[in-house]
Amino acid sequence: MNEVKTPKKPLISYYCIVILLLLLFNMLVMPMISQRQVKEVDYNTFMEMTYNDNIGKVELQDNQILFTDKDNTQLYKTGLMSDPELTQRLYDHGAQFASEIQEQMSPVLSFLLSWVLPIVIFVGLGQMFTKQMMKKMGGPNSMMFGAGKSNAKVYVKSSEGIKFTDVAGEDEAKENLSEIVDYLHNPNKYRDIGASMPKGVLLVGPPGTGKTLLAKAVAGEANVPFFSMSGSEFVEMFVGMGASKVRDLFRQAKEKAPCIVFIDEIDAIGKKRDGQLSTNDEREQTLNQLLTEMDGFEDNTGVIILAATNRPDSLDPALTRPGRFDRRVPVELPDLKGREAILRVHAKKIKVAGDVDFGKIARMASGASGAELANIINEAALRAVRAGRHSATQADLEESIEVVIAGYQKKNAILTDEEKRIVAYHEIGHALVAALQSHSAPVQKITIVPRTSGALGYTMQVDEGNHYLMSKVEIENKIATLTGGRAAEEVAFGSVTTGASNDIEQATKLARAMITRYGMSEDFDMVALETVTNQYLGGDASLACSTETQTNIDRQVVALVKKQHEKAAQLLLQNRGKLDQLAQYLYEKETITGDEFMAMLNEPAAQLPQDMPGTQE
Ligand code: ADP
Ligand code: MG
Ligand code: ZN
Repeated sequence: MNEVKTPKKPLISYYCIVILLLLLFNMLVMPMISQRQVKEVDYNTFMEMTYNDNIGKVELQDNQILFTDKDNTQLYKTGLMSDPELTQRLYDHGAQFASEIQEQMSPVLSFLLSWVLPIVIFVGLGQMFTKQMMKKMGGPNSMMFGAGKSNAKVYVKSSEGIKFTDVAGEDEAKENLSEIVDYLHNPNKYRDIGASMPKGVLLVGPPGTGKTLLAKAVAGEANVPFFSMSGSEFVEMFVGMGASKVRDLFRQAKEKAPCIVFIDEIDAIGKKRDGQLSTNDEREQTLNQLLTEMDGFEDNTGVIILAATNRPDSLDPALTRPGRFDRRVPVELPDLKGREAILRVHAKKIKVAGDVDFGKIARMASGASGAELANIINEAALRAVRAGRHSATQADLEESIEVVIAGYQKKNAILTDEEKRIVAYHEIGHALVAALQSHSAPVQKITIVPRTSGALGYTMQVDEGNHYLMSKVEIENKIATLTGGRAAEEVAFGSVTTGASNDIEQATKLARAMITRYGMSEDFDMVALETVTNQYLGGDASLACSTETQTNIDRQVVALVKKQHEKAAQLLLQNRGKLDQLAQYLYEKETITGDEFMAMLNEPAAQLPQDMPGTQE
C-alpha cells in the first residue's frame, strides 16, 4: 500500500508551493514589468529640461508631475511646487499635455502574463517532476501509474560484461549455452536444417555453483537483449499482479526478439500446484500465466527463456514438460579440475605469490562450491592485508580454506589442560584410524586450535584425485574413521565426552544411506527404502517403507556403526604406543601436518619413548 501513497504526498505539497509562488509573482514581479521604469528627478532638472525644449509629454497630477523627454524614451517624475507659470512655460516650450502618460498593458496581455503563462510553466515543470519521480520509484511499477508492468532489467551486450571465460569449469553447461548463443547469432543455420531450439533452458544445481553467473555470461556473449528477473519479483501482494507482470515481460520480449529472458530462482513461482489448503492464488495465477505465455509463441521466434533453480524437484511438472523448459542443464559442484580453474579465475583479481600451488588448494577444498572458492580467495587476500603482506601466499590460502570450512580461529577460547589433551587424543584417533586402514584419504593436517564454528579441532583428509564412486569397504572405513575420535577417548581415558556429536551425526547418515539407498545390506538387497527429496539443498531423505522395516533399518544401522566403532577401537588399542606419542606431539604443537604425522607413524617402534604421556589420566 505504501506504493500508492508515496507519489501523492509530494504532489500535494508541490501544488501548494506553486500557488504561493504565483501569488508572490503577481504581487512583486508583475507591477515591475508591467510599468515602465520611472526616474525621479528634482524640480531644477525639470525646469532645465523645459527651458531646453526637452520635454515631450507632461501630465500634472495631484501630487506629482510625470513627464517624458522629447523622444519619449524615458519617463520622469518630480514633486509639485507652487509654480503659477508652469503651464504657460510648458506650453511655450512645446510640451504636450497628456492625460495618461503611464502606458498600461492591455488587460488581456497582463492577464496572460500574470496568470496563464506562469501556470503553464509550473504545470509543465510539475509533469517533468512527477515523471522523474516515477522513474526513481521503480517506475510504472507503482500501482497508481499502471499496474503490473514488469520491471525486468534489460542487458544489452556490454563491453565490461561477464563472459564465458569468467565461468570456470562447468564445461558441459557452457557448451549447452553457447549453442543457444550461437543460435541467436545465426538462426538460419539451424532453420535451414529444420532444427528448432528449445524454448526453455533450466539451470539446476546446488547454491553457489554459478547458475546466475552463467546466465549473465550468456547475456555478455549474446548480441541480443537480455531480460533478467527474479522469480520472487513476480509475486505481489495483490492477486493478478504477478500474472500481468509475466504478460508484460513476454510482450516486451516478443517485441525485442531475438532475445533472452532469464528468470532466476524460478521455484518462487514454479512450485507444484497441489491441492493443499494453504494455496497461494497469486503464485498459481502467475505460474498459469507463465505456462500460457510459453505456449503462446511458436518455435524459432527467437525468444529463449533461461531459468535457474536449486529445487528442480519442487517445480510443477507442467513447467518442465517438453515444449516449455525442455532442456535441463545441470550445474554441479566443481570437480578437482573445475575447482582449480575457478581458483585461478578468482586469483586473477588479487595478487598472489608466485609459488602458490592451486592444485593442492583445490584438493584441500574438496566439496566446495564456486562461491565458496571465490570466498576462499578473498579471505586469503584479506589475511595477507592483515599480515601486512603485498600478496597472498600458500599459507594464506590454506588457512582461508579452514576459515571457510570451520570458521575463524578463536583467539581467546580457553580450554583447560585436560580438555586440550582429550581433543588431541580425539583428533589423533581420527587420523590414526584413517591411516591404519586401506582406502582412506591421506591426512593433510591435524589441528586442535578451536574455531568460531564450535569445532575444537579437526583432522583434514585430502583425496588425491576425483572420487565418483565409493565402494562398500570405503564407506565402512569412513565410518570407522569417524568413530575413531570417540574410540581414542575411550582407549586413553576410559570415558567419553560430547566432542563426538558431529562425528556421530555423519557416521549415522552414512550408515543409513548404505542400507536404505545404496543397497549395501544383506537383508534388503536392492530395494530403495528412502528417496532423496532435496537433492541440491542438504539432500533430505524421506522414508518409503513400512514401520516394521523402519525398525529393522534402525537395528541394522546401529549394528553397522557399532561394528566399525569396535574395529576403530581395536586398531587404536593395537597401536596404543603411537596413539600416545602422536597425541602428546599434537598437544604440544597444536597443529601438525600430514607429513609430520606420517613420518612419526612410520618411525620404527624401537624409538618409542618409554614413558607414555596421557596414560596416567
Ligand atoms: P548460484 O548457482 O547460486 O546462482 P552464483 O552464480 O550466484 O551461484 O555464484 C556466486 C558466485 O560464485 C559468483 O558470483 C562467482 O563469483 C562464484 N562462482 C560460482 N561458480 C563459479 C564458476 N564456475 N566460475 C567462477 N566463479 C564462480
Ligand atoms: Mg543464483
Ligand atoms: Zn571428531
